[in-house]
Order: sequence, then structure tokens, then C-alpha cells
Amino acid sequence: MASVGKKLFGTSGIRGEIGSEVTGELALNVGKSLSYYLGNEGTVVLGYDTRTTSKMLNQAITAGLVESGVNVIKVGMVPTPLVGYATDRLGADAGIMITASHNPSKYNGIKIWDKNGMAYTPEQESEIEDIYLNKKYVNVGWDKIGSITENNEIKKVYMDDLLSMVNIEPGFKVVIDCASGAGSEISPIVFRRAGCEVITLNSQVDGFFPGRNPEPNDANLGSLKKVVKATGADLGIAHDGDADRMMAVDETGKVVNFDKLLALVASEFGGTVVTTVDAGFIMDEELEKVCGNVLRTPVGDVAVADGILKNNASFGGEPSGTWLHPDFCMCPDGLLSGLRLADIVSHKGPLSKLLDQMPDYPNIREKVTCSKEDKVKIMENMDEELENAFDDIKEINTIDGVRISLNDGSWVLVRPSGTENYIRITLEAKTEEKANEIKNICLDIINSHL
Ligand code: MG
Repeated sequence: MASVGKKLFGTSGIRGEIGSEVTGELALNVGKSLSYYLGNEGTVVLGYDTRTTSKMLNQAITAGLVESGVNVIKVGMVPTPLVGYATDRLGADAGIMITASHNPSKYNGIKIWDKNGMAYTPEQESEIEDIYLNKKYVNVGWDKIGSITENNEIKKVYMDDLLSMVNIEPGFKVVIDCASGAGSEISPIVFRRAGCEVITLNSQVDGFFPGRNPEPNDANLGSLKKVVKATGADLGIAHDGDADRMMAVDETGKVVNFDKLLALVASEFGGTVVTTVDAGFIMDEELEKVCGNVLRTPVGDVAVADGILKNNASFGGEPSGTWLHPDFCMCPDGLLSGLRLADIVSHKGPLSKLLDQMPDYPNIREKVTCSKEDKVKIMENMDEELENAFDDIKEINTIDGVRISLNDGSWVLVRPSGTENYIRITLEAKTEEKANEIKNICLDIINSHL
């Protein structure tokens, strides 16, 4: 199946390689399964990203939905957050986005939202999975087939609503790199309408992602870094393939420290903010200054959204640049994240200075490639193995992977990727030596199984 272990759904919906793991047939039957789950009635908002296979899956899932009695509102090629937003604002029963987010071109996937624009929880996903795997879905009679309509108006409503959330100083200069993904058509327009001077990069729609890999990390943002510096821009914004994420390049042409960026924005909100087990302790330090507090959840935007709702939090985010704005919508939104960052930097910047005011703690993010089977095997006794390897442990947290905190404040998280074949090591320490020492201990444990 399309994700870790035997399950259909991974940490971010269904995702896998086209042809072998994700097929038109799968999309058709997932459509029927969702219809069954909704009682073979109601309405679903459907969007897709720029991948070459997205239109095919879009058609297949539409057929499945209507044949099982659900109406489909097609919103076309749009950023993922627009699907969450439209589901909420149009009063639909669910939303579906066809995307594999930051994965390379040959992947695709399906992600589902509830009526509030919040991603389906693992419990809801396993109900869909049960219907799908046990073929419980049914077709309705010819006279109960769902309708198919298109809604282009919602794009304008979404953009207007985004603009009402910010007040960016006029003339702020920003370079936007959309990876030729789903943000390409809307993101540059929104920033222009917000009064920014916009330079676009990789903002022509292309499912092969010719300009760069859609994962917005330092290694993939070489062009953006150069263009920001060369044009004297105030900020560079990079989206992932479906624009629910955003990563920033400061005015000196550097990709910023993810944890510091998250801490900067979170402390603007104050109060209770939510983040994940892989976020650094700078967030706690900065929130303390504004009398706020930080809650940690497992990795993934669903867990963060759940944490926000349960704790009535003001903001939530992951260091990956997936930020949730509960005052707007429960779907992570890379466009609003970028606009809000531009808003802060335009009034208080430059960005490098805002981030330099925070202390630098050495951190390491490393991934070890291994098979799906090895992922399971390596993680099997990871808690015990790490416990034996360190002698100054303060706390062990196993809500997602294994997170060890040491008495000197250092911490490390060893966690299998939910969407790709990696084990990730994420750590932070007060000194470089300690960081490397922790990394090597973890690598030794992982490599002993390979
Ligand atoms: Mg994404």
C-alpha cells in the first residue's frame, strides 16, 4: 500500500509512487469510500496540484464520489490551503486535495479535510481505510448520482480574505519561489495585491518541477538565495509543491533557521502556541519572554491542529514551515504564513537582525536512507537502545519516535519519516562538540541494524 507498514494513509494522507502505489483505480475507490463514510450524500470540495498525474486522479476520484451519491465542487488547480478554506466557507461536508506535497514528480497522493477545513485525523482516516480495504462502498441508483460543478469565485474570496489579515508596509520587496507547484498562480498575485514589489521565481505551472525540487530546504533554494541578494529584496519566500508550507530567505540571501523563524512568528501571537516534538527550545525561550507557553505534539499538521483545538491555542507550527493560523482556517497555509512574515519584517525588520537577536544553538537534522522494513526494525527497540547509550537522561518521550532530553538541555529525536524511506535524526545541543557526539551515537545505533 501507499505508505508505512500496511496502512493506506501515512502521516499526511495517502501518498506514493504513481502506477504502483497510487493509481486511478485507488482514487476511484477512495472517492467511493469517502462517499460511503459521508452517508452517500452531501458535498465535497476537490482541488489538485500541478503534478502531471493530478488531473487523472482528479477525474477518477470525481467519478467515484458522484457514482456513490456525493456532489463535487471542483476548484481546480489551487494551493492546498484553498481547499481547506473553501470546504469551510462553502459549507461542504469534506474537502479533497490531490497532491504529494514536497515529494518528487513521480509521486502523488490524496489528502482529506473535514467540514471545518481541518485535515482528517488518523481515526477518521482508519474509518475510510476500513471501508476501502473491505470494499464496503456502494454505488447509488442512476437518479441519485451526485452533481459536478465548478467554482472559480472562491479563489477571489480566498485572496480577499488573506489580504484582510495583514497590513504590509508599501514597497516591501519580496522574491517568491513556487517550485512550479500549486502556489504558482495565486501566491505572487496575493503578495502584489498586498502592496509588495514581487519578483517571481519558478512560478510557471509545471508538474516536472524543472526549476527545483519542491521540498523548500537549503539545498534546493540556491536560485532563490542568489536572486534575493542580487535584487536587494527584503525577503525570499519559498513554497513547497502544494503551498501549505513556506520557508524564508533573509535579505542577506541566507535560508533562515527554521526554529528561530517559528519562534519569531509564534511570539507575535503569544498565549498558548503549539509545536511538534522536533522543534527546538528557542521557541520556549522566546514565548517565555511574552508570558506565553509552548505545547508539543507528535509531528504532522493534524496533530498540531488537534493540539490547537484542544488547548484553544493562538497559533501552531512545525519547523518544516507548516504553520496553522486558527484565526483564519484550520488548514496549514503557506500563503498566509508568508504574508504574516512579510508583515512582521516590513515593520520590524530586517529579518536577519530579528533572528540574530536570538541565541544560536547548534542543531543537526540528518536523514538515513533505509527500506520500509528496516525503518520498522530500526525503531523496534530504539527507546531502550538510546537509554543505554546516554548516561545523563532527563526525560524520554515516545509520543512520536523517541525523543531524549539530557540534563544539560540537549535533546535528540529519532523518528521514522511517515512519508519517505528515511530515519530522521533531529537534535540540538549547547555546543558543537556535544551535537556531534549525540549525532554519532544515534548513527551508530541506526547503522548497527543496516
Ligand atoms: Mg505541503
